[in-house]
Amino acid sequence: MATSIADQVPIAEGLFTWPSNDPRLLGSRCTNCGVVTFPAQSSCAACAGTDTETMELERKGTLWTYTIQCFLPNRPPYEGPETPETFRPFGVGYVELPGQTRVETRIKCDDPDSLRVGMEMELVVEKFIEKDGKDIISYFFQPVEAA
Ligand SMILES: [Zn+2]
Repeated sequence: MATSIADQVPIAEGLFTWPSNDPRLLGSRCTNCGVVTFPAQSSCAACAGTDTETMELERKGTLWTYTIQCFLPNRPPYEGPETPETFRPFGVGYVELPGQTRVETRIKCDDPDSLRVGMEMELVVEKFIEKDGKDIISYFFQPVEAA
C-alpha cells in the first residue's frame, strides 16, 4: 500500500473532496429549480437550466434500493480489487441523502445478506484498488452499524 498522500489518487476528479480527513461527495445544485445531482452536472436534467453550483453532500442517508452482485463483473470495463479466487458477493445500490439526491454506490459490508432497504448508511472514502504503484481512492457507503 502506498504510504504518501501523493500516491493516493481519486478514481475520478470532482467526485469527492480529496485529500480530506472528512471527505464529502460533491454534487451540484440547480440554482433555478433546486434539484441536486450526483455526480455534479453543469446543466440541470429537471429544468434544462445551465446555472448549477457545486455543493458538498450529506455523509449519511438511507439505503433506497440495492442488489447483490454475485459474480465477478467482466473486466474491462469493470475495475476492482477482486480476482476470480478472492471474489465475494457485494452490494450495489442507491443511497438516498435526505433532501438532496440518490447516489449510486458500491456498498461496503461483510455480510450483504444483512442489507435492508431503509437502513442507515454512511459515506466511506478509501482505497479501492492499486494501480501503477498508486492507491486509487473511491467512495462507498456502509451500514452505520458497521462503523
Ligand atoms: Zn433545474
